[in-house]
Amino acid sequence: MTTVYWLTRDLRLDDNPALYEASKASTLACVFIIDPRWFEPGSYGWSPMGPHRWAFTWQSLMALEASLQALGQRLIVRWQTPEDGIPEVVRALGAERVVASRPTAVDESRQWQLITASLPDVQCDLVETLTLFDEADLPFELEALPTTFSAFRRAIEKSGPGPVNPLMIPASLPAPAPDLSLDQRLQRPFSGSMASRFVGGEACGVKHLAGYLWEDRSILTYKETRNALDDWSASSKLSPWLASGALSARRVVAQIGQFEWDVTRNESTYWLYFELLWREYFQWYSRYRGSLLFNSPEHPGQPVSLIGVSDFKRWLVDPTTHILVRAGRAQLENTGYLSNRMRQILASACVYDGQFDWRIGAAWFEHFLVDYDVASNYGNWQYIAGVGADPRGGRVFKLDKQLSQFDPEGAYCQRWLGQP
Ligand SMILES: Cc1cc2nc3c(=O)[nH]c(=O)nc-3n(C[C@H](O)[C@H](O)[C@H](O)COP(=O)(O)OP(=O)(O)OC[C@H]3O[C@@H](n4cnc5c(N)ncnc54)[C@H](O)[C@@H]3O)c2cc1C
Repeated sequence: MTTVYWLTRDLRLDDNPALYEASKASTLACVFIIDPRWFEPGSYGWSPMGPHRWAFTWQSLMALEASLQALGQRLIVRWQTPEDGIPEVVRALGAERVVASRPTAVDESRQWQLITASLPDVQCDLVETLTLFDEADLPFELEALPTTFSAFRRAIEKSGPGPVNPLMIPASLPAPAPDLSLDQRLQRPFSGSMASRFVGGEACGVKHLAGYLWEDRSILTYKETRNALDDWSASSKLSPWLASGALSARRVVAQIGQFEWDVTRNESTYWLYFELLWREYFQWYSRYRGSLLFNSPEHPGQPVSLIGVSDFKRWLVDPTTHILVRAGRAQLENTGYLSNRMRQILASACVYDGQFDWRIGAAWFEHFLVDYDVASNYGNWQYIAGVGADPRGGRVFKLDKQLSQFDPEGAYCQRWLGQP
């Protein structure tokens, strides 16, 4: 049996249940689709895929290819929409099965529906690879997802499944499908800048995790440091690898558990797990909300006005705009990363100080973030704007207070704006 494994946000061999499932075939084709729509400007002017995530994704693909080759496999990269690309590969190879990771957001779910509809005689299976838990193991039905994170966490900690043992890297893989020149990389080689502190790929993610936990032991003070505006070791910086699937969240949790067993357990070690539960909550929240994840209750189903978008872009750089906003913009656009505190500050400033539709800010983040994750990004923006999972109806961060609390000497603003 020939199986096509469509890789999406699961760019790893370790703890990869989709790869495990696909490997039951006798012949396997591992396919990654680069969708040209990622690079087209969306309704708000920014393309979904910005320069930082694109470079990171490309590095992740090259690393994955090397890992697959070490097991006698290969990676087929196509420049096409998935709705066209996957059926084309399936037909060219006469494949009988397609395996992919279960998507979290509505667009990706629709793509999967189109693919399965165009392959009525092919077995199409989705496998959970992004989350800590399987839907069947949640202590509630998805339709009854708790409306707040706290209730979700309590339910998981009281009667959830507990940490799941991650799968090991497979010792071998099925033979690769015949090379029918399906790979399109030579037709459109990578173009973009690679200079970043975050380097894509599973090996770099594993190394980074080991450094944070075992070498630097920065996890021991995570709870006290995590709110810093901009300090490399203040938080784990695992997000780009988690978002691309180069690292499995279950592996990170297993490593935290191992650290607690071998070294010590304290509030900080628990808090890193706690934050991974936030991530988990937003993954399920995104599935539960469907298209509502992208909607504003005041403007249901309506796109943002383009005047709002150009005003927003002007506001970001206007010298009268608060210095923290301008500094945060510079960091985000230049590096692709912001601390959680700076993301909260910028989101709050956009919604409450600038009075912009939160969806403009969310689209801006989507383009520039190296660690963009649809559920975490849109879920957090809704949370701050008070239109999502927030019982308190929005979160306002007073800019002057944040500045005096988190950047009293002005070091952050100076670093990113280059002025005293
Ligand atoms: C407006 C806004 C937009 C955001 N957009 C994204 C996004 O697109 N992608 C993304 O991964 N995170 C997003 N976050 C969450 C959070 O800011 C980042 O995960 C975190 O800053 C990444 O740095 P870290 O890996 O050092 O995090 P750490 O503090 O070390 O946390 C460890 C991991 O827990 C998860 N996590 C932590 N906080 C959150 C949170 N509030 N929500 C969901 N997951 C969390 C992440 O996977 C993170 O890597 C957003 C937050 C806000 C306020």
